[in-house]
Amino acid sequence: APAGAETASSCAPPATPTPAQTEGPYYKAGPPEPASLVEPGMAGTPVSLTGWVVATDCAPLADAKVEIWQADASGTYDNMGYRLRGYVLTDATGGFTIETIVPGEYPGRTEHIHVKVTPPGGSTLTTQLYFPGLQGNDADGIYDPALLLEVIEGPSGLTATYTFVVAV
Ligand code: FE
Repeated sequence: APAGAETASSCAPPATPTPAQTEGPYYKAGPPEPASLVEPGMAGTPVSLTGWVVATDCAPLADAKVEIWQADASGTYDNMGYRLRGYVLTDATGGFTIETIVPGEYPGRTEHIHVKVTPPGGSTLTTQLYFPGLQGNDADGIYDPALLLEVIEGPSGLTATYTFVVAV
């Protein structure tokens, strides 16, 4: 489960499935499963992206694949390699954590992290996550407040939490 979590997800059944969003132009299949997407010397505010994957009845989904890809702090995607691309599998509580950085904005888009969530034997939810309180959110035609991360500022960066609800 996510570090410091006292309860499971914030899910209350029957839960509304997490809205899907466009994949965008920068998805690249086959990323690694790293402990952290943060590399030495990488610019940007560290963020521990954490949360749960649950079904609409709030049952935790273990071994779900949570894959992310995002821009770096200057708003650039690595389309040659797999920098800031990777996945983790959920634990027995449906929990996951990926260490990354806060992405930069790029023209037309507010800060966002792309995600694909695939429960075992289920279909893939493709969506995007957003950071609260940014001016750029309302100017972004794709932004959806249902996809806002819950962000806590800590001494060494942010903890950003989201519960994915998927139909299985
Ligand atoms: Fe993007």
